[in-house]
Amino acid sequence: MSFSQPLPLALSPSRLSDFQSCPRRFQHASVERIAQPATYATAKGNVVHHIFEQLFLQEGPLRTLEFARSQISLAEAKVLNEQVCEEIGLNDTTREKLRREVDTILDRYFHMEDPTKVVHEGVELRINTTIDGVPMLGILDRLDRGDDGELTIVDYKTGSLPNRNYDTQTFANADLYAALCEHELGQQPKTIRLLYVAHGEAIERTVTTPVVVARRNAAVTAWNRITTYYNEGDFPATPSKSACRFCAFKQQCSANGVAVVH
Ligand code: SF4
Repeated sequence: MSFSQPLPLALSPSRLSDFQSCPRRFQHASVERIAQPATYATAKGNVVHHIFEQLFLQEGPLRTLEFARSQISLAEAKVLNEQVCEEIGLNDTTREKLRREVDTILDRYFHMEDPTKVVHEGVELRINTTIDGVPMLGILDRLDRGDDGELTIVDYKTGSLPNRNYDTQTFANADLYAALCEHELGQQPKTIRLLYVAHGEAIERTVTTPVVVARRNAAVTAWNRITTYYNEGDFPATPSKSACRFCAFKQQCSANGVAVVH
């Protein structure tokens, strides 16, 4: 078979993650572009990200909890369109729950850092670049500039905390962001800071060159495999418990005879 749809214009960390967990998932999501229905968790995450984006577009002294709270209904209006509301089955009760949870997240966030003191290079910062012939795209939640001139990648997480022995996978996306920053801005970020805002906890790690190089090389290798599978007209399915568990394409796979792991 050959695909009527083109390959995506660039490889992003989330597309890379899809491909590495199961190439067929990449095929469905990024080549065939089968829409993945919204979930309550993704909708809440998008509301929170939108509020933080607006917060950090303000001048330092204006980044207050009151301002952030004033953005909740505006963020809802932007994110929770008719289709999303239908997909997540939003009703008065769940809407109220979502508002309460977002309000708690904002409260916890303001105990984690003082946004009025943050100096950043950009929010929702798009970095489009080509590395070793591979088009790549990263959208950073925030890129901070410290007093010492060093850069910190800041990523907001609205889901669960990783377990205590968090591994390289926890920082995988941010490591690729670091590679993109270095390539495009000519400066390797010094630190990655993951803000688990629903829990009020931050996890920080120093960026190291070997890890960034390994992550960049893994992306280049993946893209080469992606183009090969695309030209062959088939991305293999590699079902596993961890890959299939939260995959939106179980139905398609089951219909195609793939032994989905439940
Ligand atoms: S359901 Fe499993 S096998 Fe199918 S695309 Fe998703 S991860 Fe891959």
